[in-house]
Amino acid sequence: MFRIDTAFNLGKIFGIQFRLHYTWFIIFLLVTVSLSWQLFPMLYPGWSGLTYWVIGIVTSLLLFASVVTHELAHSLVARFYGIPVRSITLFIFGGVAQITREAARPGVEFKMAAAGPVCSLVIGGLFALLWLFTQDIVEPIAALAFWLAQINVVLAIFNLIPGFPLDGGRVFRSLMWRFTGNYKRSTQIAVRVGQGVGYLFILVGILIIFLQPFFQPLGLSWFSGLWLAFIGWFLENAASASYRQVQWRDGLRGFSASQVMTAVYPVVPPNITVNQLVYGYLFAGGHPFFMVADEGRLEGILTLDNIKSVPRQSWEMTQVKDIMTPVSKLNVAYPDQAVLSILEQMEEKDINQMPVVSGGRVIGLITRDNLIRFLRLRSELGA
Ligand SMILES: [Zn+2]
Repeated sequence: MFRIDTAFNLGKIFGIQFRLHYTWFIIFLLVTVSLSWQLFPMLYPGWSGLTYWVIGIVTSLLLFASVVTHELAHSLVARFYGIPVRSITLFIFGGVAQITREAARPGVEFKMAAAGPVCSLVIGGLFALLWLFTQDIVEPIAALAFWLAQINVVLAIFNLIPGFPLDGGRVFRSLMWRFTGNYKRSTQIAVRVGQGVGYLFILVGILIIFLQPFFQPLGLSWFSGLWLAFIGWFLENAASASYRQVQWRDGLRGFSASQVMTAVYPVVPPNITVNQLVYGYLFAGGHPFFMVADEGRLEGILTLDNIKSVPRQSWEMTQVKDIMTPVSKLNVAYPDQAVLSILEQMEEKDINQMPVVSGGRVIGLITRDNLIRFLRLRSELGA
């Protein structure tokens, strides 16, 4: 799978981080070239060479602006219901909003999921209006508007396919959840449909590739087949991943921090040098993470990233307390806090570990690895 977190930050829209994944450039290039080089010259002969490219590029950019608006619609509804949104990222298969947690009620999930396709339909309608007003006046603008109207409607319909994790899958789940009251079962069904849709796409894609003579007259090249199979693979993957996530949450429900935390973690004093830390603790213990404490009182935490921020030649002169994340900037958990809420906090802040603190003293540590081990043991023992 793609590591979607390796993306450029482009700034914020409505306070939500907007990012570009490097694979986006591939799809941007593909769309622009196929518009400027194939579609527009075929449908509208007689424009100048420059016009094809300018209209192609602008159309392509407006397509991605439409995709971002679609994701923004999901995000703003989520935020309205108090669910924080970390970022919106454009990548090869479109856009994705990183909404930090699932809705707690089916009604909220329904609105959150439906907002995207509804937004795409509205955008499609606006471009259709633009087309209506420009069709007899400026052909290039009308061509742009017509294509964008079409593609936004296609986007809405595609997203309404009732398989998880597509918007339609979420709508479908929220309805089942509403009528059966069973969140887990509803998710299972929506995920199965999502996986089925993924396999179907792969199958049809392969058929298109190998039975080219039958599909060519329909305008489906081997490339469309490959693309369809590729999207199918992505959907199947995403459906399975979201199912694992649901199982995760289910396995952690009802547990508190003190039940899953580990009490085995390396503690280092604040006034040793980075050199002492690396040779005396890091290489010896192998833990990529340290608590910095003075006589049991937590002062901060230290991760491999903190250590890497110091150049090798300064290790002798730098003390641990100069590079640690101080306790004032730290997210800490409490012994009776629900593990699910800790996991949500970790996802929201994009961190991998949290110290458990009671009365100013560190009594344990929760890491993501920790939680995975806990779940594995639980399922192995059937407990
Ligand atoms: Zn959507």
